[in-house]
Amino acid sequence: MLEKLGEVLRKTTDKIANAIFLDKNLVDMIIRDLQRVLIEADINISLVKELSDKIKKEAFDERIKGIDKKEHIIKLLHDELIKILGEYTPLKLQKTQNRIMFLGLYGAGKTTTVSKIGNYFAKRGNKVALIGLDVHRPAASEQLKQLADKNKITCFINEKEKKAEKIWEKYEKELQEYNLIIIDTAGRHALDKELIDEIKNLNSLIKPTETILVMPADIGQAAKKQAQDFQNAVQITGVIITRMDSTAKGGGVLTACAETKAPVYFIGTGEKVNDLEEFNPSSFLSRLLGMGDLQTLIEKIRSVTDEGKQEKLQKSLEEGNISLEDVIEQVKNMGQLGGFDKIKSMIPGLGSAKIPEGILENQQTKIAKWEHILKSMTPEEKADPELLKKQTSRIARIANGAGVHTSDIRSLLKQYDLLNGMFKSGAGFDPSQGISQKQMQKLAKKFGKKMRF
Ligand code: GDP
Ligand code: MG
Repeated sequence: MLEKLGEVLRKTTDKIANAIFLDKNLVDMIIRDLQRVLIEADINISLVKELSDKIKKEAFDERIKGIDKKEHIIKLLHDELIKILGEYTPLKLQKTQNRIMFLGLYGAGKTTTVSKIGNYFAKRGNKVALIGLDVHRPAASEQLKQLADKNKITCFINEKEKKAEKIWEKYEKELQEYNLIIIDTAGRHALDKELIDEIKNLNSLIKPTETILVMPADIGQAAKKQAQDFQNAVQITGVIITRMDSTAKGGGVLTACAETKAPVYFIGTGEKVNDLEEFNPSSFLSRLLGMGDLQTLIEKIRSVTDEGKQEKLQKSLEEGNISLEDVIEQVKNMGQLGGFDKIKSMIPGLGSAKIPEGILENQQTKIAKWEHILKSMTPEEKADPELLKKQTSRIARIANGAGVHTSDIRSLLKQYDLLNGMFKSGAGFDPSQGISQKQMQKLAKKFGKKMRF
């Protein structure tokens, strides 16, 4: 997702940071690189021009000297980019019943996103029900039901009924016991009169607390007109952008939404249920600039972990007291998070680190072995895995008992050291308070060291 843009932005900040002489020529050169890549990312030309003019004009502010000058320019770039990405507007649930209606054209990603959002809020302790009101496309409701079943979320559909309103009325009573109802609707190839009428009818019947427009990233700047058109038909409260993983032009849709003042709540980054991220312009940007984003990572870990386990894991993560069981749980979660490559970009300092291939991939068989290993360990050994390193005879005994090779036990210990060390260095900061630049640099340094095998 926007990899090229991120790469150039990181190179740019490096160039500025490493420059001995920060003269007009260098700044001009950097601006030219920036312009090219921002336009490639489909960001509106007038916004790009505004950004470069502002940097040109303010880069050489006479009052700022020496090293501060570099920071000043990087900050200028950061602030200008934040400005074009729009403000952070989270999707907040109300205490009373929430009804979130999803709208969008055919194939925008509504049904997939309905199930992602359902799962997201169910994991956060809400009583969620999905309802399928796409009566036009054959198999549309079956698709929703399958996704809901897979994630153990209640779902109401009625394949025989051809009137969306009737389905809503049929289940309205049963829906009362849920605090969050997510409504999947039909799309069309374009926003024609028929679709507008249908949306308006559903809107007055359901009285949604949020109306979310789903748009795929590959429509680029056309998002602006689409958002406006839907906005004119009904009151859109927010946008979710899907397929941010599959196009380099995602910058276009993001900035188009910011321009139309349609807040982007979430972005979809893949087809799986956990491929969803809350959109926070500043953490999005810090990731593009290569500063990593530990908070997003913690959020993601939270989203794939069940309520009960979540608290314990969060606590061990913050305290740096990870047990062997936690390690296995972590590696399982990483699989669900989309593999280590995706996670890597969120950890400060790891963005460009080389991770030996296969180190965290293809873990299924490994995990099964590890689970056998744990069963053959004494409680004493589980509590203090260091014992195994001190007395290798223990490793031989466990290998025998678990029917695995001693190298399997060593690989588990290595993983344990790696993860424990990584998260231990993250101890002592409160994720809800964010993380300071200094802490970030310290973490990056530690992670960098840990990852060299
Ligand atoms: P709908 O017609 O608006 O309900 O769209 P669907 O939810 O059926 O999605 C259309 C296609 O887009 C499906 O193949 C989805 O798997 C895919 N899709 C949805 N969201 C994403 C995403 O964030 N990334 C990728 N790569 N594919 C997605
Ligand atoms: Mg659909």
